[in-house]
Amino acid sequence: MVENERLRQELRHCEAELQELRAQPAAPCVGCEHSQESTQLRDKLSQLQLEVAENKGMLSELNLEVQQKTDRLAEVELRLKDCLAEKAQEEERLSRRLRDSHETIASLRAQSPPVKYVIKTVEVESSKTKQALSESQARNQHLQEQVAMQRQVLKEMEQQLQSSHQLTVQLRAQIAMYEAELERAHGQMLEEMQSLEEDKNRAIEEAFARAQVEMKAVHENLAGVRTNLLTLQPALRTLTNDYNGLKRQVRGFPMLLQEALRNVKAEIGQAIEEANSNNQELLRKYRRELQLRKKCHNELVRLKGNIRVIARVRPVTKEDGEGPEATNAVSFDPDDDSIIHLLHKGKPVSFELDKVFSPWASQQDVFQEVQALITSCIDGFNVCIFAYGQTGAGKTYTMEGTPENPGINQRALQLLFSEVQEKASDWQYTMTVSAAEIYNEVLRDLLGKDPQEKLEIRLCPDGSGQLYVPGLTEFQVQSVDDINKVFEFGHTNRTTEFTNLNEHSSRSHALLIVTVRGVDCSTGLRTTGKLNLVDLAGSERVGKSGAEGSRLREAQHINKSLSALGDVIAALRSRQGHVPFRNSKLTYLLQDSLSGDSKTLMVVQVSPVEKNTSETLYSLKFAERVRSVELGPSSRRTELGSWSSQEHLEWEPACQTLQSARAHSAPSSGTNSRPGSIRRKLQPSGRSRPVPV
Ligand code: ADP
Ligand code: MG
Repeated sequence: MVENERLRQELRHCEAELQELRAQPAAPCVGCEHSQESTQLRDKLSQLQLEVAENKGMLSELNLEVQQKTDRLAEVELRLKDCLAEKAQEEERLSRRLRDSHETIASLRAQSPPVKYVIKTVEVESSKTKQALSESQARNQHLQEQVAMQRQVLKEMEQQLQSSHQLTVQLRAQIAMYEAELERAHGQMLEEMQSLEEDKNRAIEEAFARAQVEMKAVHENLAGVRTNLLTLQPALRTLTNDYNGLKRQVRGFPMLLQEALRNVKAEIGQAIEEANSNNQELLRKYRRELQLRKKCHNELVRLKGNIRVIARVRPVTKEDGEGPEATNAVSFDPDDDSIIHLLHKGKPVSFELDKVFSPWASQQDVFQEVQALITSCIDGFNVCIFAYGQTGAGKTYTMEGTPENPGINQRALQLLFSEVQEKASDWQYTMTVSAAEIYNEVLRDLLGKDPQEKLEIRLCPDGSGQLYVPGLTEFQVQSVDDINKVFEFGHTNRTTEFTNLNEHSSRSHALLIVTVRGVDCSTGLRTTGKLNLVDLAGSERVGKSGAEGSRLREAQHINKSLSALGDVIAALRSRQGHVPFRNSKLTYLLQDSLSGDSKTLMVVQVSPVEKNTSETLYSLKFAERVRSVELGPSSRRTELGSWSSQEHLEWEPACQTLQSARAHSAPSSGTNSRPGSIRRKLQPSGRSRPVPV
């Protein structure tokens, strides 16, 4: 209805306008685009009229100028006439004077004989007459001069007259030119005015025609609107019906919504219940899988042996020098990565270990091999990783590495962190780090306030048989950053304490002890695993080369502790009832990490160059012996053939052939032994590597 009313008003308005237009056909139509055009044309016309007025002004100016010039010309002509009259007068006067002069001359000439005579007479008779003669001669001269002057003046006057004639001609030509120009401008102006008049008439006609056409269109529109109006009314009626229907629906909507919400809530509740029971099922499965994984992992480690020995050959470095001493004496088996060949004094010796890393192996490659051991620490196992070998063979490189390429220590802690985080939903873990050093059988805390303080190893007073070190600093670490700070601190302590750290570190054992304590959130089960990372002192036999004093003492201590390590491993291997852990600080400290179901990995570092082959041979023999040892549950321990603790000291330093190596390394008996595959290779009928029980 509103629309209807609006259209009606518009119609009335249009009709009023139409009548107005009819009443004043000449009046400009309001709001019509032609009125704008007509205004433009009118503007243009007034502009043109303005221009015409301007042109007229210009024309009158030109007329004025012409008038002025004509006046000046008349003036000049007047002056010329005056000049001519003056000139005629002058001429008259001059000709008169000329005539007089001629007459005088003629009269004088006519009187000349008596004068001459008189002159003669005067010459003879009178000076008076003489004087009169000279005077008349002078006068005659003067008159002649005057005549010449008058002639000159006359000539000048004639020239002046001529030039004023020329000027007059020029001025006349100019006047004619101006008049022609004036005529042309006038004609042009008339033409322009004519064309403007025509333009104006045409524009007015066009505007009128367009206005008429538009008027017609408006009429047509009006008729269209009228018909629209007629069709809109039924549409409006249906819309009103629709609206009423919708209104009724909206009134019923809250009830519908509540109903739907109730249904959805019930469905969601059911789905959550289902998801919960699914989750419980999954959790149960996950826990079972975890147990299985742990079991498998343990089984794997057990199958691999509780003591594993790997060798890592470092590359030849600049420090090895040049010449025959620095040539490479180590080679590998392309088909078996557990074999290493050494050329010692011209004779080849071969060893089999659990794995041999060539000089091209990266820190990551080595870490990959020890990764499983490290993660077992989270499951509550104690783990020891030793780096063994002569000074300069790469022990510190393997354990600590460089800042750009870190070794096992750093990588192990990073791995432990990420594993612990992964299990954070079920387990709560705390990790602590201690760093200690054993030098000349004295244990020192590298993270303590006083690194000089000697620490003692004691039995726990709780009667558990566990050992502990009173006063050993334990840092709780929560991130890799914390570990870096701990390392930094330990390193600074060591550097400030010892002037030649390199020298000192090769004479001492450095230990990094990581303890991982975990609580299972759901069962409350507690586990404690210890990871001992040991960079051992250099294994070279200094004592034999006649060292003295403190050097000899150092060598004896190192020898003793490494022998003790060998003894302990031998006792463990042979399942002896008594394991001599207390023979050295190192073995005593690591007692609970070496016994029982603990896992041990020995990385034997090897220098590849010729000059070190004796020490290399010695290291590899030690490695092969250690490898033959099995750790196991005490219940399975049986008394078997023992490996003399003296063996470590008594090994032949000189070259040993494969045969003799075999003799040393082959365990005397027992199903737990793992004879090397070299032996198998050399004895074709040999059995395959037995699985430890
Ligand atoms: P150690 O601790 O046994 O005395 P280092 O770890 O100090 O021996 O190694 C001696 C030198 O050899 C160092 O300069 C070290 O960077 C280098 N080195 C050792 N092993 C490697 C290796 N695998 N790759 C590159 N350089 C090595
Ligand atoms: Mg070192």
